[in-house]
Amino acid sequence: MARPLYAQINLSALRSNLARVRELAPRTQVLAVVKANAYGHGLFRVLPALEAADGLALVEPEAAFELRERRYTRRILMLEGFFAESELPEFAQRRLATVVHDHEQIRMLEAATLARPLEVFVKVNTGMNRLGFRPTDVADVCRRLSSSPSVAALRLMMHFARADEDDGIAEPLAVLESACKGLPYPRSLANSAGVVRFPEVGGDIIRPGIMLYGATPFPFDSADMLGLKPVMTLRSALIAVQELKANESVGYGAMYTASRPHRVGVIAGGYADGYPRHAPNGTPVLVCGRKVRLAGRPSMDMLTVDLSDVPDACVGSPVVLWGEGLPVDDVASAAATLGYELLCAVAPRVPYVTSEVGGIDLEL
Ligand SMILES: *Cc1c(COP(=O)(O)O)cnc(C)c1O
Repeated sequence: MARPLYAQINLSALRSNLARVRELAPRTQVLAVVKANAYGHGLFRVLPALEAADGLALVEPEAAFELRERRYTRRILMLEGFFAESELPEFAQRRLATVVHDHEQIRMLEAATLARPLEVFVKVNTGMNRLGFRPTDVADVCRRLSSSPSVAALRLMMHFARADEDDGIAEPLAVLESACKGLPYPRSLANSAGVVRFPEVGGDIIRPGIMLYGATPFPFDSADMLGLKPVMTLRSALIAVQELKANESVGYGAMYTASRPHRVGVIAGGYADGYPRHAPNGTPVLVCGRKVRLAGRPSMDMLTVDLSDVPDACVGSPVVLWGEGLPVDDVASAAATLGYELLCAVAPRVPYVTSEVGGIDLEL
C-alpha cells in the first residue's frame, strides 16, 4: 500500500497546449521551454508530447547533454549560454545553440577552436537588466561574432520583463528596434505572456514555457480562458477524519479554530512534497471533486481541510491539490505565489504517473 499522494502527468493536455501555441503564433518556430525539469513535470516524461515543437530551450547543460545522448535531434537552445570556456567544445559537439549575453562569453568564443561552429542567440538587454548587451553595443557585438570562426549563425533575442501587462512591451520593443536596426538576423522575443498577448510581435522563434504546462502567465486571465489544459494533477486522498468541537483548533500553531462543530479531513501531502507552507486557511482543495478549504497550517507531511460541505467524505476519499478541476494558479494566488513556483517545487519524494489522457488512473 503506497502513500496516496502522486503527480499525474497528462500528455494529451500538453499536446493540446502546444497546438494552442501553434494556433496563436502560426508562422513561427516554437522552442518549448523545458528548464527546471520541464517546470517540475519531468523532462523525459513529457518529451514524447513535445514532438510538434521545433526544438527545446533550457538552462541546464547536463539535461541538454542527456537529451543528445537519448537521441533528441532537433534544436536545443541554452538560455543562459555557457558558463565556462571548457563547455564550448561540448556544446559544439552536441550542436547546442547558445545565448551570448556578455563580453566575457564573446572572449571565450573567440579564444576557442571548435570542431563545429555554434548557432548563437545574441541577448539584448531591453530594460530587464538581468542578462544581455546594452542596446548601443549590439551592432558591434554582432559584427565581432559574425567574424568569429566559432559562430555559425546569429539570432537576436530579448526577454520581456512585463509582457503580462498591457503597456509592458512598447518600450522594450522600441529599444530592440533601435538596437537591431539593419541587422538581418532572425529574432526571438516572446515567452508565454508574449505569445498570448502580443502574438504579432513574437518574432521568428518563440519560447513558450508555462502555457505548455497549462498554467497562466497572467494574474487575471485564467488558463482555462486562454484555452489551456492542466498537465499536472497532484492527487492524494484523505488518510484520517477528525470531529472538531466548537473552539477546538487544528495543527501546528493552532492557526485554525472551529467556530462550530464540523469534520476535518487529513490529507497526505505537505510542504515536504512541495505544497506551499504559507498557504493560508481558505486555500482551495478538491475532496470528492468538491471544493473545500484548507483549515490549519500545512505541515511537512499533511494538510487539513474543512469537510463541512462534503458529508460523504471519508478515509480514502480522493483529493486534488491542484490540476484537473482546480487550477494550480488558484492555489498559487491563495498562497501569494505563482503557478510556476508550485509546479517547479514538487518534491523528489512525490511519485509520478504518466497518462495519455486525464482523469483518475484506475490502475492505481
Ligand atoms: C523561462 C524563460 C522563458 C519561458 O517563460 P514562460 O513565462 O514560462 O513562458 C522564455 N524565455 C526565457 C529566456 C526564459 O528564461
